[in-house]
Amino acid sequence: MAPHSARAEARAALVIADPKAARQFGAHGAVVLWRELAGGGRHGLLCVPDACDNPHCESIHLWLLELDERVISVARNKRGAVALSSRPGAPDRPARPPAPEAYASYQPSTGEVSASDKHQGSPLFAWLKASADADVLAHLRVPLNERELAAGR
Ligand SMILES: [Zn+2]
Repeated sequence: MAPHSARAEARAALVIADPKAARQFGAHGAVVLWRELAGGGRHGLLCVPDACDNPHCESIHLWLLELDERVISVARNKRGAVALSSRPGAPDRPARPPAPEAYASYQPSTGEVSASDKHQGSPLFAWLKASADADVLAHLRVPLNERELAAGR
């Protein structure tokens, strides 16, 4: 396969959203954990394993983003950033700002999921910590070369 088509493949959808699911295991290690939202509806926690500039780093860095149930798909754009496509229109409940994105790290050798001081208090990090069981961690364990490809590097 030519390099450019491998890159195009990496930009294909990571996940086609299914908010009724409990969890989704997508391409390149992406995971979405769905749960009921207080006040009605559902929301999801998207975890995307990211590349790292340090070739000796053994951690898997995770980009955490909240999804609302209007999301259709999650993909990588040409710059490697996560891009969401969503149904138009507001949900039929009061608007609620999403939690700010957060970052966490997963250390496969110890199984530890951690966050920097800045993200320790993030509700998304708490959600990940509460939900990251063996199946989730196994899916997040993506080789660095695949994470780099997915990130367009
Ligand atoms: Zn790193």
